[in-house]
Amino acid sequence: MRRPPLRRLARAAGAKHCTLHSMPANRPSDRVPEPIRRLGRIHHVAIVVERMEPALALWRDALGLELQVVEEMPDDRVRIAFLPVGESKIELVEPTDDTTGVARYLAKSGEGVHHVCFEVGNLAETLLRLEIDGVELIDTAPRKGAEGPVAFLHPRSCHGVLVELIEAPGGPAWKSLGYPTEQEIDR
Ligand code: ZN
Repeated sequence: MRRPPLRRLARAAGAKHCTLHSMPANRPSDRVPEPIRRLGRIHHVAIVVERMEPALALWRDALGLELQVVEEMPDDRVRIAFLPVGESKIELVEPTDDTTGVARYLAKSGEGVHHVCFEVGNLAETLLRLEIDGVELIDTAPRKGAEGPVAFLHPRSCHGVLVELIEAPGGPAWKSLGYPTEQEIDR
């Protein structure tokens, strides 16, 4: 394959909105849209389950993951469990009634992977950048999640994957949503 001339490479790298054709094919990082390059670690992978206990029998007991917490999320009408693995976690989600999106997903698709959550430094800014780039947002502003400020991106914009973003601890949305500060937790 013939390489594009250097001048074109530089222009493509500096351009705000590159098309795939104008991007150098041999540098994968340049093919990734800028906001996506800002994603941090995978915070968790969420799995929707019919009932929590049999799911824990697999993930905690048979597969040996440590159970961090089981929590009721009355606003979201789910019960969730977090099981850390490496720098990420498995999140088990059990709907507690059948009115929510996740309950409808379970009824329609059965148990399985529900969403993937990535960490970002500044959630409000990331949402703004994604919206400008034409990504369909489910939450246009950070909202309170079990582990920090979160927002969901629509699967229509993410190749069929429901993507959740969570703000890393200490980010601006932690304060604006009223999470306790580190000093308050230490006390
Ligand atoms: Zn999640």
